[in-house]
Amino acid sequence: MDNIQMVDLKRQYQKIKTDVDAAIQNVINSAAFIGGPDVAQLSTELAEYLGVKHVIPCANGTDALQIALMALDLQPGDEVITPSFTYIATVEVVALLRLTPVFVDVDEDTFTMNIESVRKAITPKTKAIIPVHLYGQSVDMEPLLTLANEHNIPVIEDNAQAIGGKYTFSDGHVAKTGSMGAIGCTSFFPSKNLGGYGDGGAIFTNDAELAVKLKMIANHGQKVKYYHEMVGCNSRLDTIQAAILRVKLRQLDGYCDARRSAADYYDAAFKNHPNIITPFRAPYSTHVFHQYTLRLIGIDRDMVHKKLADRNIPSMIYYPVPSHKQAMLKEYGTENNYLPVTDMLNKEVISLPMHTELTKEELSFITTNLLEIIG
Ligand SMILES: *Cc1c(COP(=O)(O)O)cnc(C)c1O
Repeated sequence: MDNIQMVDLKRQYQKIKTDVDAAIQNVINSAAFIGGPDVAQLSTELAEYLGVKHVIPCANGTDALQIALMALDLQPGDEVITPSFTYIATVEVVALLRLTPVFVDVDEDTFTMNIESVRKAITPKTKAIIPVHLYGQSVDMEPLLTLANEHNIPVIEDNAQAIGGKYTFSDGHVAKTGSMGAIGCTSFFPSKNLGGYGDGGAIFTNDAELAVKLKMIANHGQKVKYYHEMVGCNSRLDTIQAAILRVKLRQLDGYCDARRSAADYYDAAFKNHPNIITPFRAPYSTHVFHQYTLRLIGIDRDMVHKKLADRNIPSMIYYPVPSHKQAMLKEYGTENNYLPVTDMLNKEVISLPMHTELTKEELSFITTNLLEIIG
């Protein structure tokens, strides 16, 4: 058995090598390195896959979030509600644009934004809400959208970890994550569920007017070349990445299934252990397991992380410091925000290897060793 990887992109590539190599070679042969047919076709294929009207590709997931906020014409000091329990990019763009991040707590089962906390955090200055579909689990979007609509606040979904996930509304309507808010954002960072071989990102919307604006902002504020109507940025999806992503999009549903079966194996191995809480699978969504994240109760989590490493088993702590305690946000004075679930989860969570190529042999090795370490 080779060394187990947190994410194994080498083995995944071997299975799609012929198609990926041809796609890359095709871009080089055509010399269409910027824009070109692959970027446009990926946008069309993604729009169809997600059931959204408009897809605006961009350079990475952080840019996608930044461009989304820029398109809402917010003023410095406007408040944006986000969870603290997320990757820093969600929050960083808020601060970058001189907006005020307002942190809400998460649910201890789903690890996603608690809707009652959002309700309490809304003020007349709230101008956007950013739910994060963390680890591949959808936020409970129906009550969130109802609440946001009552207050006329746009919702920007951070779908960087959950592309391919589905959410079922109470009337039976099924929507893909990223397609439900005013704007959806994703990242094609290599380790994401739909990852390229470099950086990439995309923005989704059903609103034609917003789509025009998002596209302009991503392209120096211009609709017509050299006529710049607003301050934007330069955020393009690389054409070679688009060509690779078109190949991988065709595999995405299969990749989600592979992740889910690895999760099933882990669940079965850990389900009866009194100190381990396996990931909750909300009835309203299909978990796509960007991460397989356990809570370790009454055990020294950092000791487990270290002992796994001693046995050549990688594991990760996502994320060791919650956003509200990051030095980056010192000026906002959020360090002592009362976010008890976030603070608790930060000490308990540990993510195990999760990718599309995990074998039974590897899963058995990981689970056996983890159970041995915990005792
Ligand atoms: C990865 C990620 C991002 C940022 O994506 P990049 O492509 O790395 O800029 C944003 N939010 C979340 C939740 C992420 O996991």
